[in-house]
Amino acid sequence: MTDFARTRKLFDLPEGVIYLDGNSLGPLPAAAVARVRDMMVGEWGVELIRGWNSAGWYDQPRRVGDRVARLIGAAPGTVVMGDTLSIKVFQALSAALDLNPDRRVVLSDSGNFPSDLYIAQGLLASLGRGHELRIVEPEAVGAAIDETVAVTLITEVDYRTGRRHDMKAITARAHEAGAIAVWDLAHSAGAVDVDLAGADADFAVGCTYKYLNGGPGAPAFIYVAPRHADRARPALAGWMGHERPFAFDLDYRPAPGIERMRVGTPPVIALTALEAALDVWDGVDMADVRRRSMELGQRFIDGVEAACPGLELASPRDPALRGSQVSFRHPHAYAVMQALIARGVIGDFRAPDAMRFGFAPLYVSTGDVDAAVSILAHILADGLWDRPDYHRKAAVT
Ligand SMILES: *Cc1c(COP(=O)(O)O)cnc(C)c1O
Repeated sequence: MTDFARTRKLFDLPEGVIYLDGNSLGPLPAAAVARVRDMMVGEWGVELIRGWNSAGWYDQPRRVGDRVARLIGAAPGTVVMGDTLSIKVFQALSAALDLNPDRRVVLSDSGNFPSDLYIAQGLLASLGRGHELRIVEPEAVGAAIDETVAVTLITEVDYRTGRRHDMKAITARAHEAGAIAVWDLAHSAGAVDVDLAGADADFAVGCTYKYLNGGPGAPAFIYVAPRHADRARPALAGWMGHERPFAFDLDYRPAPGIERMRVGTPPVIALTALEAALDVWDGVDMADVRRRSMELGQRFIDGVEAACPGLELASPRDPALRGSQVSFRHPHAYAVMQALIARGVIGDFRAPDAMRFGFAPLYVSTGDVDAAVSILAHILADGLWDRPDYHRKAAVT
């Protein structure tokens, strides 16, 4: 059994804060501070350029990738770190399209995060081969997979509602129709019990600053199924993905396996913070995380529905169909969220009218959930959200 009282102590959360926004940016793992300092002073400061070999910087994207792999049901050697998630979406989608050259449709859904859709639009326009991005409602994805679809580009957990797709069923349907399945795990990695190998996914990508707590701008990851790893063509053919980067050949030859998905020089400082963040996951069982997160989410829904009239649940009611977040609608969701944040309950707002609350069992307790519900009830009952400063929108919501 995972000891969540232990994991909670490994985070540096400010006094008086109930943090329900780990789905956007995970909190600071206390050990990351010293780890990054040690890396900078002891490795960069002393080893200088030698650190690429002596401190293992060069191998870090693979080493860290193996640790992420365990959390998403992937075998060692199938995941590599680097760049941002938007870039990894580009890489995965372009490689997937290349494996299915005779078809012209990329299928996604309206619950996907806009960056994924924008990247797809940009890539398809650059290819200039008449591809179409077909966007259907999340519920319609399965039925929309037909023989014209080259690639399905689906985010497993919807960033607004928390709705979770059935990865296994959709992947099976895609394969049956001859399509390649690309999964975005932005709201899944560290949140739900992902089983990439079991679902037979072709490609997967995700970020590490959400539920994996790697810090703002932490590097992303990409997974390539072993059956494709030596065939997938890297569109971003950077030198670090070359078979022999230090031969400095004029011609690109992809490295064998997942290594080809590397692009350029890895962000060693950020990867070091992420390594410290991943230490927290040692001894953590994803099945326990999933069970606990469903409990916390359900407790929040029950509490809010009993104490907060006027809020409408925007997430699936069945915990099995939700990721690790719960969203509620309110006509003044932005102002209500500002009032909550002012009282130490940090969630976030997504246009047009949703308040999001993420439940990360590593550091959120049932006591936090109950306190958040009672503060929210108080704000709504007394109309405390209706102040001009709570209505003024900041750049990042
Ligand atoms: C958070 C998120 C992103 C963000 O992409 P970045 O390149 O890291 O800014 C992309 N896609 C999805 C599905 C997300 O949830």
